[in-house]
Amino acid sequence: MSRIYNFSAGPSMLPLEVLEKAGAGITDYAGSGMSVMEMSHRSKVFDEIIVNTKALFREVLGIPEDYDVLFMQGGATAQFAAVAMNLLSGKGAADYVISGNFSNNAYKEALLFGKDIRVAGTTKDENFTRIPRQDELTLNPGADYVHICENNTIYGTKWQYVPDTGGVPLVADMSSCILSEPVDVSKYGIIYAGVQKNIAPAGMALVVIRKDLLRDPIPGTPTILNYKTTAEKDSMYNTPPCWTIFISMLVLEWIKDLGGLPEMQRRNREKAALLYDYLDSTDFYVAPNLPADRSLMNVTFRTQSEELDAKFAKESAADGMSNLKGHRSVGGMRASIYNAMPKEGVEHLVAFMKEFEKNNG
Ligand SMILES: *Cc1c(COP(=O)(O)O)cnc(C)c1O
Repeated sequence: MSRIYNFSAGPSMLPLEVLEKAGAGITDYAGSGMSVMEMSHRSKVFDEIIVNTKALFREVLGIPEDYDVLFMQGGATAQFAAVAMNLLSGKGAADYVISGNFSNNAYKEALLFGKDIRVAGTTKDENFTRIPRQDELTLNPGADYVHICENNTIYGTKWQYVPDTGGVPLVADMSSCILSEPVDVSKYGIIYAGVQKNIAPAGMALVVIRKDLLRDPIPGTPTILNYKTTAEKDSMYNTPPCWTIFISMLVLEWIKDLGGLPEMQRRNREKAALLYDYLDSTDFYVAPNLPADRSLMNVTFRTQSEELDAKFAKESAADGMSNLKGHRSVGGMRASIYNAMPKEGVEHLVAFMKEFEKNNG
């Protein structure tokens, strides 16, 4: 077996222990004589898996009783539409804080359905190198909801505070930071996340929704995007992504066994500090973001030239690391260091960066 350190932003690394456990039962799961990939979603064996997975999400994330846990398809992008279609009332008003690429996509999607969709704050003219401060937000008190993207996967920034929305439900896209640290779910109306960054293989979004927000969606909403129906049908209105749910369960068990989200946070802080401390100690690399708003999951940096950036990507790949090239829209480098990235992987990267600096500085 030869595994490399995979710094992909998503789909991304899964814990080796989880892959091995899944592999061990891949042809005969728990004496069922079949793979989880082959079994009916209405079977008793799968029912145990989905019930257990929901319970584990509740336990690990600390989801209060007055919230529902939904599994939906179409990734986080389908949620851009679902949020708007399910939460917009007759006035069709929502506030979007634009702190990067995905929050902008969510905003554009809401424009398809709303009448009064506003930009409540943005750091676009600073290249999204920081998160807007509370005093920079202009919130509409009559909005149906406020939308933020909690961790900006492409730009490498993260909200360090939960904005005060004055009672308007707060909706957060947590695709790239879910399960990376403890979160106070009660401060949010909806938390959603595509699972392929920090939970499971692609194919699903986790939606945690306060029950009073399970309303009738706007007319014309496809049933598959209807939160209320999804909740009533226990996320089995149609065939769910069984395998993705199964791997979510194994990942949640892995997190729980290690000590839950406080331990994930401790590990993630430790890993990110290895990179940021080094970046701060040298002029060879540039870390563009405001230090206070730096993401623990996606670390962005670059050298002084595009030629060197390209060389870095090429040579790091030859040194057992993949996907360190930054997103095509921003260039430079990006190291995505989700829960499953071991500390040794980050140490390996920092050692490579030092060597690269020595040879090219
Ligand atoms: C990856 C990502 C998305 C898009 O997810 P899909 O599942 O591909 O639709 C949306 N938001 C954030 C924050 C992401 O990191």
